[in-house]
Amino acid sequence: MDLQDLPVAEVKHVGLQAAAILRGRSVHTAGDLLARAPRRYLDLRAADDWQLVNERVTGATVALLGTVVDTRRIGPLRGGGVSLLLRQPDGRGVLRVVFFHAPPGMAARTPLGARIRVIGSLREGRGELELHQPRVLAPDAKFAPIEAVYGGVSTLAPATIARIVQSALERVDEWADPVPVELARAMKLRSSQDSLRTIHRPPSNIAVDQLIALQRGTSWAHQRLAFEELLAASVALERARKHAGHAHPIPFDLSVGPHIAKRLGFELTPSQAEAIDAILRSMTIDQPMRRLLVGDVGSGKTLVAAAASLATLRAGRSVAWLVPTSIVAEQHANTLARALGGEGAPIAVLLGSTPKRARTAARKAIARGQIRLVVGTHALLEEDSLPPDLGLAVIDEQHRFGVAQRMAMVKDRSAHMLVVSATPIPRTLALAQYGDLDVVTMQKGPSSRQPITSRVIEPGDHAFIANTIRRALEANEGRGRVFVVVPRIEADDASAVTIAEADAMLSKHFPRDRIVVLHGQLGADAQREALHAFRSGSHPILLGTSVIEVGLDVPDANLIVILGAEHFGIAQLHQLRGRVGRGGQRAGCVMVPESSEPAARERLDEVAACSDGFALAERDLERRGAGEWFGEEQSGRDRSFCFADPLRDRALVLRAVEAARELLERDPTLAAHPALDRAAKRLLARGQHPTAEDAG
Ligand code: ADP
Ligand code: MG
Repeated sequence: MDLQDLPVAEVKHVGLQAAAILRGRSVHTAGDLLARAPRRYLDLRAADDWQLVNERVTGATVALLGTVVDTRRIGPLRGGGVSLLLRQPDGRGVLRVVFFHAPPGMAARTPLGARIRVIGSLREGRGELELHQPRVLAPDAKFAPIEAVYGGVSTLAPATIARIVQSALERVDEWADPVPVELARAMKLRSSQDSLRTIHRPPSNIAVDQLIALQRGTSWAHQRLAFEELLAASVALERARKHAGHAHPIPFDLSVGPHIAKRLGFELTPSQAEAIDAILRSMTIDQPMRRLLVGDVGSGKTLVAAAASLATLRAGRSVAWLVPTSIVAEQHANTLARALGGEGAPIAVLLGSTPKRARTAARKAIARGQIRLVVGTHALLEEDSLPPDLGLAVIDEQHRFGVAQRMAMVKDRSAHMLVVSATPIPRTLALAQYGDLDVVTMQKGPSSRQPITSRVIEPGDHAFIANTIRRALEANEGRGRVFVVVPRIEADDASAVTIAEADAMLSKHFPRDRIVVLHGQLGADAQREALHAFRSGSHPILLGTSVIEVGLDVPDANLIVILGAEHFGIAQLHQLRGRVGRGGQRAGCVMVPESSEPAARERLDEVAACSDGFALAERDLERRGAGEWFGEEQSGRDRSFCFADPLRDRALVLRAVEAARELLERDPTLAAHPALDRAAKRLLARGQHPTAEDAG
């Protein structure tokens, strides 16, 4: 069997429980496991050296042998903090070792006089170098010269994941390479197996710059695996294009736009009118439309998609909207109900959290044609939730999905498809990432909108933050609404502000019953309640994570405070800022970095100085390439890929498309390349699995 299809439960060291947890995070096969690259690498080749301590090399990774000469408890008694002092064997140097949360049994392993080895990074403590939460080994324990460090998965600890991945790696020879041999030879590519080995177990003589490339995900090995993914995707897309069939032509009815705008109480903007015109035109023929709608955040893309939906419903066909979160699903269902004024009713909403019975009932009604408009999250892609006579598939906030989901929406159907981009990507890049789609761009939002005042302030200026929030709440006759956004729910390492920290800070200045918390780990009901409390104004401060980044529309919101702002990508910051000022009122954005590093600050200043998403994207891309624009969280990256990033890997995309066409031309069923055929099908199947993040 191809290792990529080997069920994860059959990998050594994976028990039933671990397998269930992994599947819950979309790791179904040994292939999925190996596609999770390590988070970072510990280079321990020069780490067994006290000189790093004695010469105070902050940031250096060390793996030091020493003797415990002092041990004391720190922090609250029940907090379990321990601080040790470790002495160099020859007595020349000492190092403080701090455990804020001592692992169980630590005290027993580190009594006074014990010899231990500690592995971690040196950092500046109070006047001396310290090691925080290091790993502790027995003095004679072996350690790998270069260690791959993985992220934990739910309750599976990083070390457990590392062990599991390494045992999958033992069988890497069973990975069927989808790249045809002749092509690999022509492109001078090394094998997938070599690439996976290098990524998960770098050779001990690897050069430092190569190791950095591995860490950044830009190594030859990553590029090699990226090509593999892009080739599979190109095959799938090319096949979909060839077998698209005939779509139901939708009569050209330009009245739908103004009709909807009027119901919502707006005038169409010129950009909206143009986009609607272009979209309706491409739906009048029997060739399925494949369109990408690109517009800046707040430019009114929902209304455009609603107009296309109305035209489709009027032509007697059904419509489905795929959206990234349950919050957005419910919001769009409401907007559509208002905008369509009963046409196409009833509207079904399908979420991951929808109870099974309700879901089954909705699916039945959809199958019978009683429901013709459905809005849903990933739940839409599972089993049969799409109307049989689907005329139009809308995919909103495309950046939360990927090419696999896009194809799953119209698989075996000849529906028109409108993909709505969340970020204002420049046209040339849109073409690289979405080569299979025709792009329509909306340049301007409603002119009634005022520019958002953005500023960056010093870390920790809580008084300023509180004052700004207070003033925003009082604005618009006390109808102001304020978002406070943090990068993480909980700290997974010491960096980044958490919900709890921000909550503590806000509670010092505002009564508890003014603040409501919203993040992705809350259940759907709790999220709905939180959002309602915020919209209604009973709790006008919403403290949340980036779940609010996508698509949230609260017209009264007039201030967003972004804490730990340097942890967000530029596109994300711009998205977040787009959540305020939507009702045409004055609005502001305050970005608060956590560190005072100039590099972090510079990026934020740039966002503050420019309110045009297209200009921001263009400038950033020119200077730094796509990576920076989307940030470390890679929110703009196609979720169907583990290694490829079509924006970054534009050249590889072109090569893959070309190769896929040639291969299919000669051998339409890919009989001679079964591994590639499987890879393409696997990608399509992946589109139907929700990932944990977008399961909402
Ligand atoms: P996005 O393009 O980010 O998806 P939305 O479609 O959510 O933006 O629209 C942003 C806001 O602008 C919403 O509050 C919407 O009601 C409002 N809006 C949309 N079209 C118009 C218009 N033509 N005139 C005024 N406001 C509009
Ligand atoms: Mg939107």
